Amino acid sequence: RPTVGVFALQGDVREHLHTLAALGATAIAVRRPAELEDCDALVLPGGESTTMAKLARTFDLLEPLRERVAGGMPTFGTCAGMILLADEISGGAAGQETIGGLDVTVRRNAFGRQVDSFEAALPFAGLEEPVHAVFIRAPWVERAGEGVEVLATAHDHPVAVRQGHLMATSFHPEVDGDGRVHRIFVELLGR
Ligand code: GLN
Repeated sequence: RPTVGVFALQGDVREHLHTLAALGATAIAVRRPAELEDCDALVLPGGESTTMAKLARTFDLLEPLRERVAGGMPTFGTCAGMILLADEISGGAAGQETIGGLDVTVRRNAFGRQVDSFEAALPFAGLEEPVHAVFIRAPWVERAGEGVEVLATAHDHPVAVRQGHLMATSFHPEVDGDGRVHRIFVELLGR
């Protein structure tokens, strides 16, 4: 059984833990560097990305996270977690720190006020049936590097991507989770 951590200093932790456990992983909350060391893989949940980055720095997790992600630890970011994995943030987020590793530029709150939050049945690469995707003040991918595979799009922008051991979705697959998107991530661990 792989141990999959969920970054737990802020954000939407509990549903991820449940979904991962249901898929047969040992799911643990990660708040300290020692807990990160126990992980074979990590989920960065939704929440507020600036707060998450600041707390990660305050609790001495930001550098260890950067090292693990750069060192090949499979990592799955959802919503704010996608922002944390992005190499670059556009749209007036100058100075916002990320973990990085994913060769994308993301725009925070990209769908705008009119569509602050919405749900969609989203075709998803490798899945037969669309995913019920819940978007909450979600980012989208504005630029994706050559090594980045687009797994789903909404409003003509990538909202799910994969690059090697890294995966990210703009939406919240844990919310009404039938677990299929998490399963794709967990299956990366066996490779
Ligand atoms: N808008 C948030 C941010 O910029 C992300 C929202 C979410 O994770 N649901 O960090």
